[in-house]
Amino acid sequence: MIEHAYLTPVAGPEIASGHLVIENGRIAALGAGPGPDLPAARRLDATGCLVTPGLVNTHHHLYQWATQGLYQDASLFEWLTGLYRLWARMDAEIVHDTAAAGLGWLALSGCTTSSDHLYLFPKGRGDLFAAEVRAAREIGLRFHPCRGSMDRGRSAGGLPPDEVVEDREEVLTRTLETIAEYHDPSFESMLRVAVAPCSPFSVTADLMIESAALARRSGVRLHTHLAETLDEEEHCRAQMGCTPVEYADKLGWLGPDVWLAHAVHLRDTDIRRIAETGTGIAHCPSSNARLGAGIARVTDLLAAGATIGLGVDGAASSELTSLAGEMRQALLFQRAVRGPRALTARQALELATVGGARNLGREREIGTLEPGKLADIAVWRVDGFRAAVADPVCALVFGPRPPLVRLLVGGRTVVADGELRTAAQDVVGRAGALAHRRLRRFEQEGR
Ligand SMILES: [Zn+2]
Repeated sequence: MIEHAYLTPVAGPEIASGHLVIENGRIAALGAGPGPDLPAARRLDATGCLVTPGLVNTHHHLYQWATQGLYQDASLFEWLTGLYRLWARMDAEIVHDTAAAGLGWLALSGCTTSSDHLYLFPKGRGDLFAAEVRAAREIGLRFHPCRGSMDRGRSAGGLPPDEVVEDREEVLTRTLETIAEYHDPSFESMLRVAVAPCSPFSVTADLMIESAALARRSGVRLHTHLAETLDEEEHCRAQMGCTPVEYADKLGWLGPDVWLAHAVHLRDTDIRRIAETGTGIAHCPSSNARLGAGIARVTDLLAAGATIGLGVDGAASSELTSLAGEMRQALLFQRAVRGPRALTARQALELATVGGARNLGREREIGTLEPGKLADIAVWRVDGFRAAVADPVCALVFGPRPPLVRLLVGGRTVVADGELRTAAQDVVGRAGALAHRRLRRFEQEGR
């Protein structure tokens, strides 16, 4: 039982001093005043704390933890070309250690559910998908790994080196196997798989179409990158005679079971089409700014009724990004270009919680604090210096990330008093840092 907290359920009115009861991993009740008399309950006195739903991260590439701080001033194209050389050398150990570090870092920033987009499967380097699943189980976050793919290597006119791409039949077979082995559709599910070709520009049209069909037959969701840069828009117009969103539409890649990373460069007609098809957007403001890609039209998308969640994107394009910090970035960027009413603190919190849950198809289970939902909860300390801010939600979103008193996933403690409790934080951090050196050594030794 969490007591004496400022509760922001995201659905329904806020409660200035209230309680929340958790039973069997779900929210049993919440309300104003002290909690009911339950003698067996373990009580957390959350005086001076803000309680929100756990944050949901809807776009990431966890392996990029090993390549942070490189190509600091490069465009997306230069950045990708440079990094593929390194990524081609990663193995299962690197994927495991970077995933554990990346997910641990996300937990420390209030995230209870994360997706990941893994689309590179260099040959002979172990089972990379299994490695990141193992890391997610160790850290204890709800995990939505996306089985990615690329089938247009350099020899076929694509950007990635041939050793990291797969052929189409191989992708489809492996993807089906991955769904059969890991996907859990249950309400409490800790792991759901999505199908995620990297982008329509590193993947053939055939693979995009067949991936969508496979996902829909299997009852899993679809994810890809779209409309990230102006280069992409120009390339698409020149090659396909349409915008990236129109191209995705032709491939069957818009719909309520699809969520797209970025969607920065959109025409008004694209925005209408995204909204009317129920397609979700993973907004990644820090990554888009870091690569100079632009600012997504979040205010316009919301006005059109589109679903939007947040994403930190891979750490190589937004180093050490905190998911809580992305609320602030989203809010400030919209206001910088559209004025002070472009996005409110509460709308930013909605993007990070229920918006993310919708992207992942989990809005019945997570994203708000309501009886019957899973107990995925963040307890933030907003007393001390932060008590000077009249509104605790404003302190959370406008200010730097507050200390995390507790992070619960299905009622289980993952973070307490700013420290990971499911794994040894210093060990996880050190292994994540060593992954970079291991990758560099492979590069020097040419293996
Ligand atoms: Zn990405």
